[in-house]
Amino acid sequence: MSRSSENVTKTFLLVCPDCKKTYPLTVTCEPDFMCLNDGDRILCTPCGTARRAAEQLRHAANQMLQRINAAGIPPEFRNYDPERGNPAMLEWIASNSEKNILLMSEVNTGKTRALCKVLLDAVKSGIHCRYADFVDLSSEYSGAKKESTTAAQRVLKRILRNYDILFVDDIDKQKLTETTGELLYKIFNAVYSGTARCRIWATMNHSGVEFMKRFENADQGAAVLSRIERMMTDARFAVKHF
Ligand SMILES: [Zn+2]
Repeated sequence: MSRSSENVTKTFLLVCPDCKKTYPLTVTCEPDFMCLNDGDRILCTPCGTARRAAEQLRHAANQMLQRINAAGIPPEFRNYDPERGNPAMLEWIASNSEKNILLMSEVNTGKTRALCKVLLDAVKSGIHCRYADFVDLSSEYSGAKKESTTAAQRVLKRILRNYDILFVDDIDKQKLTETTGELLYKIFNAVYSGTARCRIWATMNHSGVEFMKRFENADQGAAVLSRIERMMTDARFAVKHF
């Protein structure tokens, strides 16, 4: 393709499609190439800047939503209502958020709501988090265990390794079978012994003897409770009975 030696500078009169103002736009192009026509729909500089900024905001909001979805935080726990919350609980969680957390109280006292609020803030600040209902984890682990021990190990590894914070909700909502009792022990033992990379946040509704009665296998119940009791004296752990 032959090319003329000198580029030429031309000024066009355009109307910005956003603010409708007429403005001149000067461009440099090859003389035999008509790069613009008067009246072409091109944003003026301020409108172009504003639109790019709006697009960046939209993009950031989308990415945030994707991160929140990926963290599995249930939609009903994404908006914290201070009127319905327990401020003392929220404050305690926030001040212990760098630790493993075990929160004990009866059902419907706002544990999940408060932990999800702090977890959501962590997600927003870029921390890799995962919310998991223990009932869901249990059925996944039980299904894998029926397949093979290796499949069950894979599930456990995935549960424990991929996150900074793993929030296991309602560990004793259902009675614990031999298999799900084993899962709970393995999770707590991995965190207690430090083999898990993630830190764990958990909620439970029963304590002491009542908690142990949830287990089909009493030895597993005793083992989990023993881990919990030892955790209570460990600086890496925060245990609170609200
Ligand atoms: Zn404009």
